[in-house]
Amino acid sequence: MQPQREQSQESKFQNWHQVALGISTTTHGMVDCLKDTLTHLHCSIKQGPCAGLEKCSDSCSKRTGSLSQWCPTCTEWRNQIMRHHRYSLQEDKIQWNKFDSSEWPERVNEMVKVYGPVWWMGKPLYTSDLAVAICILHNCCAFSIPPEVCQAVRGLRKGYFAQGRLQVNTLEKDMALKTLMQLLESPDVSKTRSGTKALNLTIHFTKIPNTTVR
Ligand SMILES: [Zn+2]
Repeated sequence: MQPQREQSQESKFQNWHQVALGISTTTHGMVDCLKDTLTHLHCSIKQGPCAGLEKCSDSCSKRTGSLSQWCPTCTEWRNQIMRHHRYSLQEDKIQWNKFDSSEWPERVNEMVKVYGPVWWMGKPLYTSDLAVAICILHNCCAFSIPPEVCQAVRGLRKGYFAQGRLQVNTLEKDMALKTLMQLLESPDVSKTRSGTKALNLTIHFTKIPNTTVR
């Protein structure tokens, strides 16, 4: 028979593994919500306020740090992107030279970069990293996921994985999975195909009892 301490460590590792599985499943579950909403936003700007604007041939965001010297097309795109930004009044704090404004009309991902974390340069794709996705969900007002849910998911991903820990107690695991399910259950996500699939999977594996890993 194994010593009690060892069994407990195994059990904590299994808990950690379940949280990791939950995060991975949630990341997959967010794909449709992210893609659908951001593509729709891009389309509504392109076919709405920015329809018929001339193509920029100068990459204004990279050419100059002075926003007043941007061409009318890049200026209008910037205005529209910021209209849907939670921190729309902090335009001057954004590092615009990270983006290529001349690409905004053609590339959804170039627009999405404005809503991403400061350190993110567009890779890995926003649909494959939950930390990037959560930041976009929080910053872009086209989503209506409560900020406290985004904050809680961001906290658990950081707490369990950024610090390289491999053990989680049962209470922490239950809290973590509950937090992930709150995100998957939000109407923006649960109405999508990938969201429904991820929610069902998460519900399923939370019901599987721990087994001994040997
Ligand atoms: Zn321009």
